[in-house]
Amino acid sequence: MVVVMAADATEADADNVVAVVEEAGGSAFVSRSVSRTIVGITGDMDRLAATLNLAGLPGVADVVRISVPYKLVSREHRRERSVIRVGGVPIGPDTLTVIAGPCAVETPEQTLEAAWMAKAAGASLLRGGAYKPRSSPYAFQGLGEAGLKILADVRAETGLPIVTEVVDKADVDLVASYADMLQVGTRNMQNFPLLQAVGGCGKPIMLKRGMSATIEEWLMAAEYIAQRGNLEIVLCERGIRTFERATRNTLDISAVPVAQRLSHLPVIVDPSHSGGRRDLVLPLSRAAIAVGADGIIVDVHPHPEVALCDGPQALIESDLRELASIAAHLSPLVGRVVTPAPAVAALR
Ligand code: PEP
Ligand code: MN
Repeated sequence: MVVVMAADATEADADNVVAVVEEAGGSAFVSRSVSRTIVGITGDMDRLAATLNLAGLPGVADVVRISVPYKLVSREHRRERSVIRVGGVPIGPDTLTVIAGPCAVETPEQTLEAAWMAKAAGASLLRGGAYKPRSSPYAFQGLGEAGLKILADVRAETGLPIVTEVVDKADVDLVASYADMLQVGTRNMQNFPLLQAVGGCGKPIMLKRGMSATIEEWLMAAEYIAQRGNLEIVLCERGIRTFERATRNTLDISAVPVAQRLSHLPVIVDPSHSGGRRDLVLPLSRAAIAVGADGIIVDVHPHPEVALCDGPQALIESDLRELASIAAHLSPLVGRVVTPAPAVAALR
């Protein structure tokens, strides 16, 4: 059960809810954020619900009974599918949002070129990592804040809002000061302090599925973010580890409708990191759109042969028109329109 406190509720009101629940033999955990306070309750729900009138306590706005372990992100909590806005660009059930860009920000020229490529591919958001979670400690780790500055310059020039990864709790405020959406990657899906930190950052979050995580674990990870008051979350299926070695990961296409049925949050697909091969990106993009994904996120690079990260999966110039055409032609068949890129002036 979740008790949502009113905007004008006092700390004492929330403490009173806890006291009442504990008195009745239940447990309560208060989660305070800038925008709202939530009290999560566990224990014998049938008995607590029958004996307590929590909705009548001072400062209580809503009491929600939910049976799944992820509550705020569940469809039991919110029936309608959510629309998340990233720098004004919607991601939700009526649109197909394409996010594209280089795996890593390398230079201003490479990032700007990749952003124009992203636009040519029909993208309305630009991706690019300044902090890279690399399996090898000897691999390129990203440009850090210098990379964020490049992204901000490229946004000003192209009008594309930016999505970029944060790997360390200590960097959340810095990354949030530049980014329109923060990405939490597969390796950090269960980094709980990081999830809590991005839950308080005030920007939308893209949460990639852990490569060995079940859908339930993925949704519970999203709940960590939501519990801190941030319900602006987009889930991203990016492939899971299986016995199969022909692809980098196995795209779990069924995760899209399953997660959409369990959660009101938008679900997008990353065909680049799942297949790990350029020749699979367009076929997997078709599959993602056909299955009902709310968007796709793809790697593009002007010169993949010299890319510092993930060159083999990056789309090249000659692929872009086809990606744009796949998105434009398939979207109406699944009741969607491709999200247009914002005008450059919109960001100024
Ligand atoms: C990425 O998108 O750059 C990335 C590292 O993805 P993942 O966390 O899915 O491997
Ligand atoms: Mn990558």
